[in-house]
Amino acid sequence: MVQPTGKFHLGNYLGAVRVWKDLCDLKTNQNLYFGVADLHAITIPKPDASNFKQLRLEAIASLLSIGIDPLKAHVFFQSSIPQHAELNWMLSTFAPMGYLNRMTQWKSKSNLKESDEGTLDNTSNVKLGLFAYPVLQAADILLYKSTHVPVGEDQSQHLELTRTLAENFNKMYKKRVFPLPKTMLAPTKKILSLNSVAKKMSKSDPNQNGVVYLNDSPEEIARKIKKAVTDNISEAFYYDPINRPGVSNLINMISGTQRKSISAVEKDIAQYKNHQDFKNYVTEVLVEELKEPRLKYDNLIQDLSYLEKVQQEGASKASEVAEQTLDEVKTTMGFK
Ligand code: AMP
Repeated sequence: MVQPTGKFHLGNYLGAVRVWKDLCDLKTNQNLYFGVADLHAITIPKPDASNFKQLRLEAIASLLSIGIDPLKAHVFFQSSIPQHAELNWMLSTFAPMGYLNRMTQWKSKSNLKESDEGTLDNTSNVKLGLFAYPVLQAADILLYKSTHVPVGEDQSQHLELTRTLAENFNKMYKKRVFPLPKTMLAPTKKILSLNSVAKKMSKSDPNQNGVVYLNDSPEEIARKIKKAVTDNISEAFYYDPINRPGVSNLINMISGTQRKSISAVEKDIAQYKNHQDFKNYVTEVLVEELKEPRLKYDNLIQDLSYLEKVQQEGASKASEVAEQTLDEVKTTMGFK
């Protein structure tokens, strides 16, 4: 799932959704479910609620623009399928608070820092929905009896929780209702912000110069890359994430985009002896990769009723499985 909290950036693309497209391109008979996590999106305050409807459709347009084929995958809004929220409740009744407490995402999303003693200040303002969102995420996955879940590195912890909840449910009711889903990590490592390598590239970054969006114009991409933090070594550009995090982040972006190993990229860039030439090359690679998605997106976003139709059809197919699984869960638990 991907949250409809804004346009997709390079981190979402290389870290997750391009893998979704690759799965669509496989010639195997698989059932693919790609959801727009609108119920998750409301766990961070929305200053502009009236814009939410548009953001949700923009997320569908973004998925289609990168080549996800709605004939091969079910693309839908999470909120269109009430079983997500219902299974979330069932799972939450045995999800341990201590386990949720160890997750890092809710802490970073509420800007909480752990002290040296491992304690947190100001947790009393953290909202229940944000704290418990990994349980809803587990429901999103288990509702479709998913076997493989393609996510970015930042979600690995939540996938572990999902497996624990699935296993505990199966054990409690002595029935293998849920398969244990495998985490499918994208080959690209986490993409960092262009202007602060201490944090990941994120839509919610207050400094938007650090974020390359899939539908940024070539000029915007060039401007952001030009400003990207690097260092003062210019005689050679090579991968060294500890000592040269900025340069390494740019190399990681090229490696992910071109699907080349880091060492192959290092060979390609060996000729550059100044920052300008190196950064021009990074810009060129990104502009070329994002050209088609940008043009497709610009077209798709003109046709909101088509996006709505894709969503409705996806939701209708996904509902069939969601209803079946929840029925089985309810029967297993004694509700039926
Ligand atoms: P989100 O929209 O934050 O829910 O993220 C959607 C997907 O993109 C998740 O699978 C994340 O793991 C992935 N993702 C988000 N930001 C990054 C990043 N900076 N680098 C790599 N993957 C990311």
